[in-house]
Amino acid sequence: MSPDVKETIKTCPQCHADNGGAAARCWLCQADITQAKAVEVVLAELVDERPDYAPKEIFFMVLTGATALVVLLAGVGMMLESPEQGIGYFVLTAIPLTAAAVHLIRRRARGQEVTWQHRFLAFWISVGVFSVVIFGLVVVSLVCLFLFLFIVCLDGGGFGHAP
Ligand SMILES: [Zn+2]
Repeated sequence: MSPDVKETIKTCPQCHADNGGAAARCWLCQADITQAKAVEVVLAELVDERPDYAPKEIFFMVLTGATALVVLLAGVGMMLESPEQGIGYFVLTAIPLTAAAVHLIRRRARGQEVTWQHRFLAFWISVGVFSVVIFGLVVVSLVCLFLFLFIVCLDGGGFGHAP
């Protein structure tokens, strides 16, 4: 429990103005308020310094930082192994990153709050959607290749016999 700021006050029976607990006369109408009952009131409830979302924000900030570090280190590792593979990796990573950045910029442009939770989720949703799209394209390509080979075979010809 947070401590409250309390004060004793006396309400003037004549004009109902609030006076300090020790006052003998009303500050407003100068009436004698020595007989008025002093009551304790809570002036302000001291709220916790940290807002409710702070631990969650720090959690997602650390998660986002860790994700960025892993993504970066994986790229550097690939780059050292084979520069072509590393460049390919960074180009592929740049696509969902750009999508996430565009989403966040548009969200901020609409006047909506952008938290670390949003940044983290935007990145992973982009990576997820991008992976599904790439996987879909690979599957479609394989199906097309299979159909193409199937039709070529039905035709009775081969690559070598094509006119
Ligand atoms: Zn008064």
